[in-house]
Amino acid sequence: MPTLLITGANRGLGLELARRYATDGWDVLACCRSPENARELNQLAAASGGKVSVHLLDVANNTQRQSLAAQFKGRPIDILFNNAGISGNWGTQSFGQCQSDEWLEVLRTNVIAPTLMMQDFAANVAMSDRKIIANMSSKMGSIADNTSGSSYVYRSSKAALNMVSMSAARDLARQGITVVALHPGWVRTDMGGPNGELSVEESVTALKRNLTNVTVADSGRFIDIDGSTIPW
Ligand code: NDP
Repeated sequence: MPTLLITGANRGLGLELARRYATDGWDVLACCRSPENARELNQLAAASGGKVSVHLLDVANNTQRQSLAAQFKGRPIDILFNNAGISGNWGTQSFGQCQSDEWLEVLRTNVIAPTLMMQDFAANVAMSDRKIIANMSSKMGSIADNTSGSSYVYRSSKAALNMVSMSAARDLARQGITVVALHPGWVRTDMGGPNGELSVEESVTALKRNLTNVTVADSGRFIDIDGSTIPW
């Protein structure tokens, strides 16, 4: 059975992705930064008959990430899904309000951590059948789509994630690895809030469909929830 490694699997989109891939029979390496508090994820793992395992990973923690990579050395990973992300405080993202410390924390989580995850787990992906790396981006990271300004912190982090996704797509092509940046839609999670356009279930159905359809020819694409390409 294929294997998914997903970060931020304890709630929101990550939890539903873990649940749905497990339902499809995949082995799911579900990572989160506080396994002891991940009640729903632990329930999912307990009911999965061994398909879902829970692993400690704060994506911004180098020691934890490297320890996990050592633990899974030699194990094929069909999809590495860099899902974990933070928005930062929306109240300090307008022009004149931005502060460096919080901004750096968002960049560490949303850009640097997924890049280091790709570095540390590319060998696992390369030895799998499907060879896919999915980076959870956002249309808010599209420069072309930015007509309303503001949101400097979150926008810049996802724009940078898009750029590292493209570099990785180029660099990993010779290993047959497909790297895509995905927009999940505006989703009703803790981050998306109650007014989002999509339920978690609707978003995950579309994300899974898009990932099922990707081939090496799609590497380096920024894919909208309907499967179309988002301009950078
Ligand atoms: P949630 O806020 O519901 O969940 C975020 C997840 O990321 C949580 O599991 C959280 O863990 C985890 N996380 C945050 N920081 C870290 C870290 N340092 N190490 C490990 N895990 C971490 O958000 P969503 O489910 O909505 O978002 C998932 C992804 O989708 C994000 O990358 C987000 O930017 C992106 N996205 C979401 C949209 C939406 O409308 N919801 C729109 C566009 C993109 P913990 O519980 O420990 O905090």
